[in-house]
Amino acid sequence: MNHSLDAAVPRPSACPGLLRIVAARDGGICRIKLPGGRLDAAQARAIAAAATACAGGVLEATNRANLQIRGVLPGREAELIERLLAAGLGAASAGGDDVRNLMLSPAAGHDPQALADTRPLAAALLARLEGEPRWHALSPKFAVQLDGGEALAMLDHPHDLWLAALPGALAYAFGLAGCPPQQPGDAPALAAVPAAQAAELVFAMLELFLDCATPEQTRMRQLLETLPAAGLLARLRERHPQLELRQDAALAAWRRAPAAPLLRFGVQAQCEAGLRQVGAQAVLGRLDAAQLAALAGLSERHGDATLRLTPWQGVLLPNVPADAAAALAADLQNLGLLTDPAAPLARLVACTGQSGCARALAETKADARALAELLPAGAELPAVHLSGCPRSCASAQVAPYTLLATAPGRYRLLARDPGVAGFGRELADHLTIEQAAARLAAPCPEFPA
Ligand code: SF4
Repeated sequence: MNHSLDAAVPRPSACPGLLRIVAARDGGICRIKLPGGRLDAAQARAIAAAATACAGGVLEATNRANLQIRGVLPGREAELIERLLAAGLGAASAGGDDVRNLMLSPAAGHDPQALADTRPLAAALLARLEGEPRWHALSPKFAVQLDGGEALAMLDHPHDLWLAALPGALAYAFGLAGCPPQQPGDAPALAAVPAAQAAELVFAMLELFLDCATPEQTRMRQLLETLPAAGLLARLRERHPQLELRQDAALAAWRRAPAAPLLRFGVQAQCEAGLRQVGAQAVLGRLDAAQLAALAGLSERHGDATLRLTPWQGVLLPNVPADAAAALAADLQNLGLLTDPAAPLARLVACTGQSGCARALAETKADARALAELLPAGAELPAVHLSGCPRSCASAQVAPYTLLATAPGRYRLLARDPGVAGFGRELADHLTIEQAAARLAAPCPEFPA
């Protein structure tokens, strides 16, 4: 973007970035962080061309609404990075690439139920995160959520700092190392701040985190183990008396309105009359270069020549004239994407598996496809996560059901349980995919809806 490859020296980290291609079993991984998941058609074509020329043409939509190129060929890394920077996909500075972790709703600015349009605030936050070296000390995994109250929202991924618009949109509730509260028993918001002070609050909190955390405490939840949230808030008040931080009974009782994540599939309303947004999910998070190039063409033909990546490893095309939306949904399906939430594959996530990751104990993606074939179509199937090892790369939250690989083709089946750490309560071990399908498809009291 504003920097050349010569100046683009990434800092050491095990996480892939645009400038830091990390080796995997199937070649290098280059992760492209997208502002609010946004990608324009020309950039999508540039990524598709770069992935074809410098890698195996395999792309992954991530659960943080980013894109990554897999299988980068040895010796082609510099060319790949040059191509991506030339397409304007880099950060405002080389050091800023890692810290562009700001999660918005993919429908931000268009969602009919939204309380606030978070895009201007998000742009201001990203500009400072990328451009001011102070924030480049944050971990590449440190993440902030900016929630405008949209119906299409991912509210299950814990974030180091979250802000959520309150009714009336004059203030944001915020909290640390978690998610906006939705259920009566959820941890309430820590405090609220006027909307006009939201950016100031974010950077005051980031500064406090960097000053208080030890080098080992790279995430907010780690800092909270030694300095509880109330203590952090007290320090925040001391340092920034100008911040109008509110804590009262109304805020303690506030619960974020339920989200409707299934709106990620198919044709959906926008707040702008006569326009629709159309969503689809990549099968098990994978796209190929031809699909991405075709998506660019569809966004130009039917929409506003932009795409939004979603945290469900899919895409949303906004600003489609209402009379073109059904045809676009059909085109997305013909492209091999999932537009029907009842399709078994639409509820499955799987990590890379043995072909791409040395830690994997099974071919999770191939097993997920086999599982999808065995599950009844249209069934009320809860989400199932196939993980090659306990690191859980494919899912930032615990899924209702996890199949954790124990050997090639063999899995432990676990059910999410708030009283049990990790993936939850073990229901069975050493299952084949056929046995797992039978357990998941069978109506059984041990399976909550
Ligand atoms: S969850 Fe484990 S096996 Fe799967 S990609 Fe991550 S590290 Fe590899």
